[in-house]
Amino acid sequence: MHAEIVMIGTELLLGELVDTNANRLAKALRDIGLDLYYKTTVGDNEDRITEVLNLALDRSDVVITSGGIGPTVDDVTRQAAANATGRKLVYSAELESQIATRFRRFGRKMADNNRRQAYIPDGALPLPNPVGTAPCFLSEDVRRRGCIISLPGVPRELEYMMENTVIPLLVERMGGMKFTRVRVLRTCAVGESNVDRVIGDLMKTGNPTVGLAAHVGQTDVRIAAKADTEAEANALIDSMEAQLRERLGVAIYGKEKETVSEVVGGLLAKQDLRLGVVDMLTDGQLVHELIEAGFGHLITTDLHPANLSEALKASGLDSRSDLQRADHRTLAMSLAENAAPAGGMGLAMLGPFEENSTFMGLHGPGDFRLFEQSRNYQDTDYIRRWLVIQGMDWIRRVLLGELESPVDWN
Ligand code: ATP
Ligand code: MG
Repeated sequence: MHAEIVMIGTELLLGELVDTNANRLAKALRDIGLDLYYKTTVGDNEDRITEVLNLALDRSDVVITSGGIGPTVDDVTRQAAANATGRKLVYSAELESQIATRFRRFGRKMADNNRRQAYIPDGALPLPNPVGTAPCFLSEDVRRRGCIISLPGVPRELEYMMENTVIPLLVERMGGMKFTRVRVLRTCAVGESNVDRVIGDLMKTGNPTVGLAAHVGQTDVRIAAKADTEAEANALIDSMEAQLRERLGVAIYGKEKETVSEVVGGLLAKQDLRLGVVDMLTDGQLVHELIEAGFGHLITTDLHPANLSEALKASGLDSRSDLQRADHRTLAMSLAENAAPAGGMGLAMLGPFEENSTFMGLHGPGDFRLFEQSRNYQDTDYIRRWLVIQGMDWIRRVLLGELESPVDWN
């Protein structure tokens, strides 16, 4: 059994409204393990809604609509749902009296156009909506393709209906609750295609499923499992996580919402180390992120041009112009060494020099040294972000004692 959601409202197509309802519906379905295969958005037009609902019934067992069941002429979901399920729209005296009662309870008079809301597809199951005036309903297709459940567009009403009426109804139709659980493992500095190469076969499994999402310098590995109980879903995820960790090793820096800077800052704090940074490449972003993550007290920085001159002098260079002529390896290493607080670590990110080359040097703890030269530097947000991740990842791996990766990432 699988579901489809149809979001109704011209405002949604005009970009005037952020579709938060779709998000809520998707999450609610995921939580009971009902697979959602399609989401369509359509404007307030009877023919087009009918067309979309027909297609939805062709390919899905349960179709949930949001919006267009209010009292105004542009609220045409009722009619379209009747068309698609092959039923007439019929008047229900009982619904009208329910609507009238609700108006009385709110101390308001029912307008004539509210009578429109007393019409539902013939044979449909009315789903009482105690938080609004628009009655909801479930209409079975006469051709037995499935059913349409129509809910209000007002988010508060939609949420109430989902939680109290629709979810229990769907769980019953599914023959019991399924639990879907999702866990995200986060990798950095290895690239999506590399991750794909290393775990590609695991991404073809059915349950749990494994998927990737790439961001600059980072690739998230998402594990989703479905089972009859939460404990079973978690057990499926645990065993997949173990396999992924075996393959990806130290490339996984954390899980769920953890950021690289939190992890790096945490490692520095745990090992009681401070970090000095000379950074000509990321516009101060690397330091900024560590400060934001709450580790500012562990960082010293030579971002200020005057400080950079000091650092250069300490390395036997008179001015910035000497940078071009210097032996960049020596320079990066000595700047990193100078930046390192006593017993701590120093990171120097220098460039760009000829051919847009950049140099990174890392010094400490102890006498540890690391150097790298790369090309193709561009002054873009993308490259800066990428360099931040590279720098952080070096520190992380050195602190973990895992600089040599068991996997060949190149
Ligand atoms: P009403 O009885 O209020 O007319 P309705 O079922 O006809 O309810 P709509 O008219 O489509 O629903 O939407 C009512 C309001 O709900 C919209 O003006 C908008 O603020 C909000 N809304 C509708 N659809 C969405 C959506 N997909 N995501 C978030 N908000 C929505
Ligand atoms: Mg409306």
